[in-house]
Amino acid sequence: MPRKEMGGKGGRGGDRGGRDDRDGERGGKGGGRGGRPARRKVCRFCADANIQIDYKDPHMLRYFITERGKIIPRRISANCSKHQRKVSEAIKRARTIALMPFTVTGQ
Ligand SMILES: [Zn+2]
Repeated sequence: MPRKEMGGKGGRGGDRGGRDDRDGERGGKGGGRGGRPARRKVCRFCADANIQIDYKDPHMLRYFITERGKIIPRRISANCSKHQRKVSEAIKRARTIALMPFTVTGQ
């Protein structure tokens, strides 16, 4: 019976020249995310004093909700906090009088 000699771990030779690719052109992770150029920075209500935030005007308020009926966050709608608040208040009011949906479930 041949005994296997599990002696010392012989295999040394692991001299695989590691990763030495110094001049890889990798690191260019530039760009930042999202190529969406910020268009209008100003709140449209501030910009145009003629626009009224009116809860009885669902057509206007429509711009500020998603198709599922959620209120679009300020970051996206670009409203200033003052007006965003008015908008969301108007939307909520409009919802209560059934001018706008609370949520939209698949059509
Ligand atoms: Zn504003």
